[in-house]
Amino acid sequence: MSAFDVVIGLEVHAELNTNTKIFCSCKNEFGADPNKNTCPVCTGMPGALPIINRKAVELCIKAGLCFGCKIADYAVMERKNYFYPDLSKAYQISQMVHPLCEGGSVKLDSGKEVRLNRIHLEEDAGKLTHISKSVGTLVDYNRGGTPLIEIVTEPDFETAEEVDDFLKKVREALVFANVAECKMEEGGMRCDVNLSLKPKGSPVFGTRTEMKNLNSFKSVTRAIEYEIKRQAEVLGSGERVIQETRKWSDDKGKNTAMRSKEQAQDYRYFPDPDILPIEVDLADVLRIKGEMPMLPVERREMYQTKFGLPAYDAGILTSSKYISDYFKKCVSFYDAPKKISNWILTDLLKLVKEEEVFEFPIAEQPLAEIIKMVDEKKINKTVGLQLLDQVAQTGKDPMTLAKELGLLTTISEEQITTLLQAFKDSNPKAVEDYKKEPQRVIGFIVGYVMKNTAGKANGELVKSLIAKLFG
Ligand code: ADP
Ligand code: MG
Ligand code: ZN
Repeated sequence: MSAFDVVIGLEVHAELNTNTKIFCSCKNEFGADPNKNTCPVCTGMPGALPIINRKAVELCIKAGLCFGCKIADYAVMERKNYFYPDLSKAYQISQMVHPLCEGGSVKLDSGKEVRLNRIHLEEDAGKLTHISKSVGTLVDYNRGGTPLIEIVTEPDFETAEEVDDFLKKVREALVFANVAECKMEEGGMRCDVNLSLKPKGSPVFGTRTEMKNLNSFKSVTRAIEYEIKRQAEVLGSGERVIQETRKWSDDKGKNTAMRSKEQAQDYRYFPDPDILPIEVDLADVLRIKGEMPMLPVERREMYQTKFGLPAYDAGILTSSKYISDYFKKCVSFYDAPKKISNWILTDLLKLVKEEEVFEFPIAEQPLAEIIKMVDEKKINKTVGLQLLDQVAQTGKDPMTLAKELGLLTTISEEQITTLLQAFKDSNPKAVEDYKKEPQRVIGFIVGYVMKNTAGKANGELVKSLIAKLFG
């Protein structure tokens, strides 16, 4: 048992899904040749004038609506002044006193609500690549002026798992709502971790450190676990934690001091005189709200109440917008939610395992049709899976294919009944055993029917007839 409580607060940055940058019409895209998507505005040339991208403002509002924030009716872009080579204007345009969104919360799996302090809109900086001492550092301003939201939480987290759950929920919602793609490997979502320890039960927070720009879920978890241990050791040996920014290295599995924050840096925030304050109409907020898809949390609820699915099924089916839409469309073709869910969970997901971005190999309507054919005992499940595979390969309609390939069950209920009568006459003992311990002999009886029908009888139908005749 540790003698300390852990206190963590996050600042999460996500690049917004706009076509162009926040203050100019340069393309907002990842992976272009260095400094290709730049202009006087986003490289900060003297006299160049920014014009705010309406879409970026709307997406920030959308983010706020995802998490129940209060949307401001008035917001102001401010200059945050500091010099760094990736920031050629020597100030970042951000929001300070009047952010677009305030409050809100995210509910974790444990039921705990993590409170948000705010979500504001700002611009990203360029990207520095340190080559070597002799060559020096390269700068690429393509990313400069990319619209970002910053989600600032209250210091409500106590463990790395809570942080991980939070980040996944935030990413899921932003992707669902088409606010941001949150591709962490491209730096599309990054997280600063503020962390401190305090004596167990103490109401007073300890001194915190900050680790910036963590860009994978795994490194966030590792960095937190490392920093908790480090601070516990510092405090345990009677020393004090220094308020500083620490740089996490994934390779080394440790962090090192970067710069002290003992004297808070003075950014001299002031309203950017080149950009008018943003006035937000309630009508616009309502319109944006109307355009939002149902979010994962709500979908999960609905899948349980409306479709009567277990929480486990609902969780997986809503884990991406693609699966969720796919499922709903299947249900629109064949109203058997639990059966469709079973097929998706056990059979379809297996086919696309390990791929992060995927499409199922079969469209919704043919899948629904195959499931229905199995239900109606026109084919058995094994044949259904074969048919799925065939439809995926040929794109043909399931019924046509099943006829072509001779997959349809041709053995009637009467034929099976006759076979079972014959079985009873020649194996009275097995029938007696079935009455006592059905599970022990059912395979044997089904096997008999299959052998005598060249495997074309429907297994489910055979089982139900056995139960009817011998049970
Ligand atoms: P800054 O502007 O220096 O980044 P903020 O007051 O905006 O500071 O806080 C940034 C983040 O730090 C927030 O997520 C907040 O919850 C968190 N935080 C503040 N105090 C502490 C603390 N003592 N321990 C851990 N996190 C903290
Ligand atoms: Mg900070
Ligand atoms: Zn530009």
